[in-house]
Amino acid sequence: MTKKKIVLMSTGGTIVSSGESATQTTGYRLGNLGINTLLDQLPDLKSKIDLEELAVSHVDSSSMTSEIWLKLAREAQKAVDREDVDGVVITHGTDTMEETAYFLNLILKTDKPVVITGAMRPATALSSDGILNLYNAFQVACNELSRSQGVMMVLNNLIGSARFSTKTHTTNVATFSGLLNGELGSVVDNAVMFNNKVIRPHTLQTPFSIKDFEKDETFPKVVIVYSHADDDGTMVRAAVAAGVQGIIFAGLGNGCVPNRVLPEIAKATSAGIRVVRASRVFNGAVFNGLSEWEDAGMISAWNFSIIKARVLLQLALKKGITNVDELRKLFEAY
Ligand code: ASP
Repeated sequence: MTKKKIVLMSTGGTIVSSGESATQTTGYRLGNLGINTLLDQLPDLKSKIDLEELAVSHVDSSSMTSEIWLKLAREAQKAVDREDVDGVVITHGTDTMEETAYFLNLILKTDKPVVITGAMRPATALSSDGILNLYNAFQVACNELSRSQGVMMVLNNLIGSARFSTKTHTTNVATFSGLLNGELGSVVDNAVMFNNKVIRPHTLQTPFSIKDFEKDETFPKVVIVYSHADDDGTMVRAAVAAGVQGIIFAGLGNGCVPNRVLPEIAKATSAGIRVVRASRVFNGAVFNGLSEWEDAGMISAWNFSIIKARVLLQLALKKGITNVDELRKLFEAY
């Protein structure tokens, strides 16, 4: 049997971090460890997979930037465009993994498997999860059923979708979950099992691509404003003053907008800023709200998490999709 060719791209994160002792599972740092330290512990792998490695960055993903996103997307696109490459595995910190995954899910033009993995425990810790996650990510990337699934997140034996998977726990290895939207499948030992498929547009089905960044590499400035009891619109005003192009408003419950905030949002939208009405609540969608919210030009986020809504709005604005009705349709469909 011919070996599958997989390109492994590393970006940093806990998976290559080290603590001072085997019992340290928090407060560790990125040091000199590289992804090869983990690969060396998977001696069988190189006999099964034709592996090519590329270090894209070496950052804790809490410091992930759009510059690194663009570099990663370009390298991943270059890799999947090659005839000899069967798939891509990316190692990444878990803090912003779902954002990077969703960005790639919208922008990469391929049906080849692209799998992101990482770890919750540093490479030096007892029961570190990185090596098994990496091994499982390769299993998924090599599996024929993984084609056309969009970008996948493989951790803790689960295959999550970039669209729905989210970090739910600060330290637990069972942190990623698709919540009520579920998982794509699982990977245990060498068995890759898919149960679901995401029908929301991804990869080849979207109009977005890295070509959108050819002439100008900047990303539209879109911020998240998190609402709360006693919200008087201070943060919406601050965002407008900072010159943002978009605001994801994390409203209350079903995307409710406090009375004192609505006039600030109306000022923002009449200045051309696009405002998405999302929710602080993890599960469920933001359904139709009050007519005055819609009249103020707010766009419902439906079942988008606030952080993935931000990625979609950035890419839409970059593409020149600024019409409110078009943006409303986009959020409903994606
Ligand atoms: N802070 C780390 C990061 O996101 C956490 C992790 O990788 O689990 O890079």
